[in-house]
Amino acid sequence: MDKKNKLSRSELVERLKAISHEEIPKERSLGAMCYRIVFNDISLSCDNCGTEITEVEHGEKAVQDKVKRMSALGYDVKVEHLCTECCNKVKEQLYPGTDEWLEINEEKKIYVEVHHSNRLFYFRTDSTQPYHIALANPIYYYDPVLAFLEGKSSYCYHGRQHFLAEEIHLLEYMTGLKIDE
Ligand SMILES: [Zn+2]
Repeated sequence: MDKKNKLSRSELVERLKAISHEEIPKERSLGAMCYRIVFNDISLSCDNCGTEITEVEHGEKAVQDKVKRMSALGYDVKVEHLCTECCNKVKEQLYPGTDEWLEINEEKKIYVEVHHSNRLFYFRTDSTQPYHIALANPIYYYDPVLAFLEGKSSYCYHGRQHFLAEEIHLLEYMTGLKIDE
């Protein structure tokens, strides 16, 4: 997919709807680990106040790689890093009164705990619109978004095949797209 095939917001919502109706096979294919895990830390600074923070290198590289690939498809995305203090403030604006888990419905919850170092994911389909911002620390939050934007229905994470039809709530959380908008 190249940049001229980038989908509009309404096209992405249509795709989200279509995926939500896809059948999830009983048998999942097993793949290899996607990358070798090395637990080195890298030093970053808070994008708001400049405080030095550290991230686990392999996770940070994996996230940066996925965000670059989304960007290469023509989508306006970025990741910012925040220290605990700055992130607590943003989190209170984004999800007031939420502790560790943001409840989507009775079955679905999103992990939004603030860490020593935090990732905020920015997404928009139109540069005249404000970004949708999501607190997105887990590395595995980025895989479904990339797969979705690449037009796929499933992806491999840690040797297991995952289907986007099971991740609609996470896609909505990350992108701000709503299946019923
Ligand atoms: Zn800060």
